[in-house]
Amino acid sequence: MTVENSWVEGSPAYALDEQKGWLRVRVASVAGDKVNVKDGKRSFTVKARDLQLSSEKALKGIEDMIGLDILHEGAIQNNVEVRYGKKQIYTYVGTILVSINPYEQIPNLYTEETIRDFLQKGAKAPPHLYSVSDNVYSQMLTTGKDQSMLISGESGAGKTEATKHCLRYLTYKATENTAFDGSNLIKQCIVDVNPVLEAFGNAKTKRNNNSSRFGKLFQVQFDGKGAIVGGNLISYLLEKSRVVKANKGERGYHIFYQLCKGASKKQIEALSLEDYKEFEYLKKGDCFDVEDMNDVEEFEKVCAAMSKCGIQEETQSKMFSILAAILHLGNINFEEKEGGTGENDYGEVSQASTKSLNVAAILLGVSPKLLQESLSQRTMGGGRGSIYKIPLGCKNCMDSRDALCKEMYSMLFAWLIHVINITMASKNDPKNFIAVLDIFGFEVFEQNSFEQLCINYANEVLHQQFIHHYFKLEQEEYATEGLNVEILQIDQVDNKPVLQLMTAKPISVFALLEEQCQIARGSDEIFIDRFTECLTKMDAKSSCLASRVNRQPTIFEIKHFAGTVKYDAIGFIEKNKDPLHVDLQNLMNIAAKKNELLGNVLKFGTTNRKMNTTVIKTFQKQVNGLMELLDKTEPNYVRCIKPNERKAPQQFEGPLILSQMRYSGLLDSIRIRQAGYAVRRTFEDIIDLFGNSKLGRAGKAEGGKQGALSILQATKMSPDAYVFGKTKVFFKDVDNYAHLLNEMAA
Ligand code: ATP
Ligand code: MG
Repeated sequence: MTVENSWVEGSPAYALDEQKGWLRVRVASVAGDKVNVKDGKRSFTVKARDLQLSSEKALKGIEDMIGLDILHEGAIQNNVEVRYGKKQIYTYVGTILVSINPYEQIPNLYTEETIRDFLQKGAKAPPHLYSVSDNVYSQMLTTGKDQSMLISGESGAGKTEATKHCLRYLTYKATENTAFDGSNLIKQCIVDVNPVLEAFGNAKTKRNNNSSRFGKLFQVQFDGKGAIVGGNLISYLLEKSRVVKANKGERGYHIFYQLCKGASKKQIEALSLEDYKEFEYLKKGDCFDVEDMNDVEEFEKVCAAMSKCGIQEETQSKMFSILAAILHLGNINFEEKEGGTGENDYGEVSQASTKSLNVAAILLGVSPKLLQESLSQRTMGGGRGSIYKIPLGCKNCMDSRDALCKEMYSMLFAWLIHVINITMASKNDPKNFIAVLDIFGFEVFEQNSFEQLCINYANEVLHQQFIHHYFKLEQEEYATEGLNVEILQIDQVDNKPVLQLMTAKPISVFALLEEQCQIARGSDEIFIDRFTECLTKMDAKSSCLASRVNRQPTIFEIKHFAGTVKYDAIGFIEKNKDPLHVDLQNLMNIAAKKNELLGNVLKFGTTNRKMNTTVIKTFQKQVNGLMELLDKTEPNYVRCIKPNERKAPQQFEGPLILSQMRYSGLLDSIRIRQAGYAVRRTFEDIIDLFGNSKLGRAGKAEGGKQGALSILQATKMSPDAYVFGKTKVFFKDVDNYAHLLNEMAA
């Protein structure tokens, strides 16, 4: 029997609409593989493959979608949509928690009372970050195994908010279980560290007013009794470029605005921050305020939180000096030195920016002359130990200035995390930890560069981990039911070929990029030429996942698991080498002697540089370290989803949501399920569902496994279409099951 014939007039179904996703419809008529359907008064025709069975359970919006009678895209969209309409933003798919950003405060969702309620309910609680956290904590205590919570989703989906809720719940849970013995400070720091991290690492972007521009892994450490004894934080890939530029309508890091608006009059004077709207770095985005964000109040909170995290006021003011120095540096402009001609033009600090030069120099503790020289010339080593200086052109002078600011800021950020880690460090060896990962999701923009390449690489790695974990779970379920089932071959969903394409040695995107970074005359153009030329030498599966884009010489595309991304190779080498030339390094070393904080901060930059490392090498090492850590834990997944692009409440856009479900691996996990046995019903379910029909009565009387078997044997269904496990019947696919439903209804 073919699929199209199974549709009968009047059946409720879901039909795929490009604009709205899966719509609830009724079948009006069937002709070949075309089905005419009605959505209220509107009627339209769809191909049979764009029509899916309606799910009774999805209409109710059930808490765990694994329990859906029919598990496919239409039912899933319908189920979360029904719940979202009732302001139930959390839903499970088995062990995965799906969270849809409500973009509004839902009453009582996160109050202390709610927390207490969840602490009491334990495993019986409805889907919530609290119940996931509760479960993770209990699992850790009962199994002794470290846990991880992997929170993913695109920008604005709610990852950081979710992370905060999980951490907060864990601090309650841990206190409830054990007497607290002086580690209160650490517990406090775990909660207080957020405002600090967000001030220094978050910024307003077009997609999110409080967008994290770095990834983070937060480990909460416990003793054998489940009390919190420490914490540890790891950060990934801070977006440095945001220090020196922001696109229109976006801002730099919150802390700059908070400082300029919120500092005391005395501080403002001391740091010359009066005219903050005149700072080039802050001006570029043409946006100084963020809706619903009070920078003045935040500044106060951030300072208080820093104190609690072990950063005293005196150190705070030194930090602010560095921030102010960055702002003043940004206002140093260069102009062509008089007398220079043609190719030999070089830059000098413009007359108008001498004041900025002087202030920046004072704040850094160096002479204006040294600062000026370091920015505008480069010392080169000649033969036989000789040294000479070459003056830089205007553009290079400004690049030097920006490089210095980006470097200082990112070192300050790294130092900050280091200090927080010292405060949170456990005095004794912790027994277990729960790691919460809040990391940038897959990115595809109109223009994608080196940053997106790194971010998408990390997402490929995490996706692979997810798929492998899910595969294992499926195999385990069959094993517990005593079945020997060949599920989908893992390479049908595995993204190994893309990872090969990106990281294999000696030929891959990363390897070839590294090669260009090592050789003196390496260039973005040669990189992309080499890459496309080498594609043929890769294994067949990987090589067909990338290509050069026609008529755009520097653009290549990669087919990621989550979609195709076009990368522009221009700037790759520079961004990967991330150079800070020797004169700037000297400048910082000199400044460090006068400025103690800068001296400490400097330790978080220079070591890397000495080892001649690149951004990719460092990041790959970090990602590998992350995977090693996660591999030792029991993973728990939270998939955050953005319901619309307008940050608006109550607006559910089907296709947008489905696409996120697709690349979060949720639909792949369903594919894995459907490749084995897509529909699973317990024996009781079968009897409940069909026991009252004409064919089912006998089975109902028998009950149990035999009863379910009798019911199915009484139907026309082929015995190949299902197997019996220990507690459930497994149906091969949704269509078989649909026939059964139709036959029973007749
Ligand atoms: P990015 O990758 O840009 O850092 P993100 O996934 O971390 O994004 P969040 O900063 O957590 O996103 O959330 C974005 C915004 O969405 C929040 O500032 C808040 O306004 C809203 N939001 C997120 N989760 C919730 C929630 N559970 N309840 C109410 N509003 C929320
Ligand atoms: Mg975030």
